[in-house]
Amino acid sequence: MPKSQNPFAALDDSELLSEQFALQQDEKDELSHIRDEFIIPTKGDLKNKKQGPCTESDALQGGVEASKDSEPSVYLCGNSLGLQPRRTRDYLNKYLDTWATKGVYGHHKALEGGLPPWLHLDDAVKEQTAKIVGALPSEVVVMETLTANLHLLMSSFYRPTKERYKIIIEGKAFPSDHFAALSQLAHHGYPASSLILLVPQSDSSPYLSTEYILSTISQHAASTALVLLPGIQFYSGQYFDIKLITHHCHSLGITVGWDLAHAVGNVPVQLHDWNVDFAAWCNYKYMNGGPGVIGGLFVHERHGTVSVASPDDGPDGLADGEASSKAEEQLLFKPRLSGWWGSDKKSRFQMENKFVPIPGASGWQLSNPSALDMTSVMASLDIFSLTTMEKLREKSQRLTAYLEERLLRYDGGERPYTLITPSNPSERGAQISALLHPGLLDPVMEILEEEGVVVDERRPDVIRMAPAPLYNSYMDVHRFILIFQEACKKAQEGSKKKDREEVVMSNGTNA
Ligand SMILES: *Cc1c(COP(=O)(O)O)cnc(C)c1O
Repeated sequence: MPKSQNPFAALDDSELLSEQFALQQDEKDELSHIRDEFIIPTKGDLKNKKQGPCTESDALQGGVEASKDSEPSVYLCGNSLGLQPRRTRDYLNKYLDTWATKGVYGHHKALEGGLPPWLHLDDAVKEQTAKIVGALPSEVVVMETLTANLHLLMSSFYRPTKERYKIIIEGKAFPSDHFAALSQLAHHGYPASSLILLVPQSDSSPYLSTEYILSTISQHAASTALVLLPGIQFYSGQYFDIKLITHHCHSLGITVGWDLAHAVGNVPVQLHDWNVDFAAWCNYKYMNGGPGVIGGLFVHERHGTVSVASPDDGPDGLADGEASSKAEEQLLFKPRLSGWWGSDKKSRFQMENKFVPIPGASGWQLSNPSALDMTSVMASLDIFSLTTMEKLREKSQRLTAYLEERLLRYDGGERPYTLITPSNPSERGAQISALLHPGLLDPVMEILEEEGVVVDERRPDVIRMAPAPLYNSYMDVHRFILIFQEACKKAQEGSKKKDREEVVMSNGTNA
């Protein structure tokens, strides 16, 4: 057995499994105060059938002890939907006040103590977004939603030729990414067989080794136009080597894009330095911007330039769709599907039909962004500005290692689950996925819900747990483990009992 990379592996049960140990870890945690920035639903809130927080009388009517119900839930589901920052309501109230009292002036009126004018919200969120994904502010923009952005980016970055037209994605890609890639192929007239899938090499594990990824890309290099991969795989939690894979693709002349849905706000990425061509993400998972909120995208500086064509550039140098009249200067920029919000701010309201893209990622915008969404994203970004991605990652690696080690120590006999997330801390983010023995998922999830524990299930047998470093604590993990392992034991007993009954039944029919 290789030596465990888990710093908690060396500890005795008597120390590691104690509540006191979790409390001590929380005391030592420099970021623990950020939890107070979030609304953690109580167990009563989760069970309450009425909208809004659970009051004492709701709790009594529900027949549950009010004191127990006012306990915070254990929320390990930030990989699916991040919790609400307390300040979001305050920011949204300001947005509503501005709209109510200023109407259309809210677009450009700077207000004391208010949020930036709506017209400039897109610029106001750039700097903090850029820090989170390791980019220049000009390389990022908050716009549209993830799948829409993947399509917009592929319209620029997937430019198939007769020789190179394939797209490589992973076989277990999130369905939306699969559909997006497949429909791009169809849109350009290529058959589904042009979609190359990276598939796990073993039936028992979803792991994709870097070696396998690189060799598959090499094998198809001569006919491949685009590689589209997730930064972190949604199911297994595997964190891919973005830098190395990007470099490999470029060495073969292949464009590469990254879906950072599960990576943004989770692991520190360096999109600029790693020379990534493009990336897109959503702002509602680890980013805590609210369900379905506006997403974001990255276009590397070298792809976002806008320049004036010299006569030597010839017609080939012209961007698609740019009519060239002698009187007008001709612009060179990466082709794209464009809209008015991507056009130069100074001339935007002159309503002339000449598209002058804003240099950088902003030039990919289509519509004026929802100020409601932007305001919500701003609240979540302001929480991130209380720390750095490096500090968050440091906490996250320890907290996830603690969860992993606690999951590995099971005192109820045979452990009824295996962990399918890489144990190497540099190959995962906050999430750990456990594959349960068949038949256990439903009874386990039922008990977790009853006990106010929120995790995410992927049928048929996987539970995903993600301690989000902004708001989860060691005590959350401790409480989770006690409830989860107890639930596993109950579910195991239940399934053994069912097996015995089935044996009796089948003996009965045989007789
Ligand atoms: C969450 C997620 C999506 C969701 O896409 P939307 O367009 O925001 O609905 C897509 N792809 C991946 C990999 C995801 O994790």
